[in-house]
Amino acid sequence: MQPIEMRDLYGARRRIAGMIRRTGLIHSPALSARCEAQVYLKLETQQVTGAFKVRGAANRLLQMTPGERARGVVTVSTGNHGRAVAHVAQALGMRAVVCVPALVLPHKVQAMRALGAEVRVVGANQDEAEAAALEMAGREGLTLVSPFDDLAVIAGQGTIGLEILEELPSIEVVVAPLSGGGLLGGIALALKAASPSIRAVGVSMARGPVMVESLKAGRPVQLPEEKSLADSLTGGIGLENRYTFNLIRRLVDETALLHEDEIAAAMVYALVEERLVVEGGGSVALGALLHHKIDVAGKTVAAVVSGANVDMALLTRLAQGAASAVSTGGPV
Ligand SMILES: *Cc1c(COP(=O)(O)O)cnc(C)c1O
Repeated sequence: MQPIEMRDLYGARRRIAGMIRRTGLIHSPALSARCEAQVYLKLETQQVTGAFKVRGAANRLLQMTPGERARGVVTVSTGNHGRAVAHVAQALGMRAVVCVPALVLPHKVQAMRALGAEVRVVGANQDEAEAAALEMAGREGLTLVSPFDDLAVIAGQGTIGLEILEELPSIEVVVAPLSGGGLLGGIALALKAASPSIRAVGVSMARGPVMVESLKAGRPVQLPEEKSLADSLTGGIGLENRYTFNLIRRLVDETALLHEDEIAAAMVYALVEERLVVEGGGSVALGALLHHKIDVAGKTVAAVVSGANVDMALLTRLAQGAASAVSTGGPV
């Protein structure tokens, strides 16, 4: 038996309906022309807290026992998951502690504090922050909520797949950002159950793509963490990965990698052509299409635009850089 089934996704959808938004799926004429395909964008930029992670967090917290709820939750996050857990915990009147590594962007920490979470900056990277969270969970009786390696979280993210299927039953290819694998794992589960011929493509940044390297190695591996515009995709998958590595290995057909300049171009493209504010990690599926990293000619494609939580000063700088490159005749 599979550890996670379609009924878990339907259960999740019902459970979280009152806490999340059903996000838009829009046709992109510009990307469709560029790829000679029918390209649709699934806008998790519209999601509560600005990213899809609230789906998994809500599904997880809503299944905790009254005793667990009374003690509270602890999590590790580079931003969006922590923010989602903080939001759901606040809505349910629970204590939430978020452990973040030192690399995390200040505006994300502020957002979590504004949601009532206790943010603790511990460790140089995701793994060290995780060790601190685990220790705190044991000491203070808190429930540790993984950003991806948890069946309830995966089922929550999978509700995106259910929504896509309902609006676009003719879908042939789904493209989504890939980091820990909860997002694409959940979505691929829904789509492959509808039709095994639907192609699932994961996109990571070229700087430290831990899941992609793990797939190559045939087991979870560790890589040094690097800074990337796709900050919400950095971090490991855990050497003791329980679910997502196998799920991704089983369900994902191919992967693609984006360089930093390609991620920047995707963010600017989203802003200028689609009028969408998208963070680096949220732009990589769209970016893989934009930069012809995957062959989708003639296909009906859904690309998941997974988050909007970008530092506005950064996005403005990237957009101005692109505009001045155009006006001086330089490369875009
Ligand atoms: C977490 C996150 C991802 C990656 O999701 P995984 O489940 O870790 O693969 C992609 N985009 C955004 C905006 C995220 O916050």
